[in-house]
Amino acid sequence: MSSTWEIVIGMEVHVQPRTRSKMFCGCAIGELGDPPNTHVCEVCLGLPGVLPVPNKAAVEACLKTALALGCEIPRHTKFDRKNYMYPDLPKGYQISQYDLPMSVNGHLEVGGHKVRIRRVHLEEDTGKLVHAGDKLHKAWESYVDLNRAGVPLMEIVTEPDIRSADQARDYAMELRTLLRTIGASEADMEKGQLRAEPNVSIRRQGSEELGVKTELKNINSFRALHRAILFEVDRHRQVLESGGTVVQETRGWSEAEQRTFSQRSKELAEDYRYFPEPDIPPLELDPPWIERLREALPEMPAPRRERLVRAHGLPASDVAVIGADRELADLFEGAVATGAAAKQVANWIVGEVAPTGKLPSAANLGELVKLVTDGSITRDQGREVLAESVETGRTPAEIVAEHGFQQVSDESELRVLAQAVIDANPKAAADFRGGKKQAMQALMAELRKRAPQANPRAANEVLIRLLS
Ligand code: ADP
Ligand code: MG
Ligand code: ZN
Repeated sequence: MSSTWEIVIGMEVHVQPRTRSKMFCGCAIGELGDPPNTHVCEVCLGLPGVLPVPNKAAVEACLKTALALGCEIPRHTKFDRKNYMYPDLPKGYQISQYDLPMSVNGHLEVGGHKVRIRRVHLEEDTGKLVHAGDKLHKAWESYVDLNRAGVPLMEIVTEPDIRSADQARDYAMELRTLLRTIGASEADMEKGQLRAEPNVSIRRQGSEELGVKTELKNINSFRALHRAILFEVDRHRQVLESGGTVVQETRGWSEAEQRTFSQRSKELAEDYRYFPEPDIPPLELDPPWIERLREALPEMPAPRRERLVRAHGLPASDVAVIGADRELADLFEGAVATGAAAKQVANWIVGEVAPTGKLPSAANLGELVKLVTDGSITRDQGREVLAESVETGRTPAEIVAEHGFQQVSDESELRVLAQAVIDANPKAAADFRGGKKQAMQALMAELRKRAPQANPRAANEVLIRLLS
């Protein structure tokens, strides 16, 4: 990006709150891959004469999200009809919120940068079209699966406060952490539970006016989000620098071609002919109810990360991993509470637990870290024990005893072993005696090769003693 342009991004994120049933009927949410049209009823099929009833769990998830984002909650909120025709929308309108959303004016801090939240509101998802075709015979068929029609969605809209592709991705990731922390959503992008739509524009550095924006849809990973924005910013720059104008439109992202493409020119809000949903009375958001929800919120991810740094002196890189996931942070604090060394626990979580996503209990992780730290078992043995402990739920001590990972710590045995290693590596031994401390690594490696069952800490001490 040349220094003469500034990137401006506002994000609209759709999140599926964690509920058992749909937004306005009792149909189950179901799973991805369920047979089509197996979670439908007269309400979500849009049959005439039925009454939608708002799902309280969805309303609470939305309010919790709004509160966690520091939003203001009005006394009343209402639903509105957003009218448009599409085969995946059986009613011919979507029930959404227009001028009295569930909440307004919040913010989320991302890497020290404040992103203002314009609103968090509640609406319903549409169905899904499946196209099958045969080009050769010009036979095209389209199917509609309404399992998703009427699934609740929260829409979280920011002000145009984001200034880079990195920041946009970090915003979406921080939002995911927040949503999971408060239990409002599983926010799994792969399952379509979190969908990010960045609105992208650029303007001359120093200009106050917003440039013409394009809205990017169908982005289903953080990586795609980042790439789509970089591509789009570059496209805007090329258009503007060659004297053209950016067309306001909705664009898709092709993962295969790694580029954005025009989908449709942007509808104006008036085109939807919003009007109040006549079948749902406005909701009163009773202040004591809101206060109860606010008080029940857990510690937010950002202050928790600060606390992890302050209380345990963890480096930022560890906290970035551990603090990105409430379960990992709970695991960390639980294991440290058993008396295991904080930095060692962090290393095991970052290096071993987070990559597999399989969590041991805090007690078992604490025990394992202590066994490795005091030299009772080696790091490699520790990995085996951890995997088995996660698999079976048994304690590391039980597993160690059963495997006979009993280590050789016997002084005289180790002395014979260490002397043999020194004799076989005169150069490394001389180097170490000469002050080259790194030479110990080669000696230890040799010792481990000869006797994997040797207690590393005890062996190390014996080597040092023999060499000094
Ligand atoms: P629309 O009516 O097209 O949906 P809105 O004004 O409601 O547009 O804004 C939708 C999203 O786009 C918001 O997140 C907002 O911050 C963002 N946005 C609006 N204008 C711009 C712009 N010029 N550049 C980047 N983002 C923008
Ligand atoms: Mg929009
Ligand atoms: Zn239904």
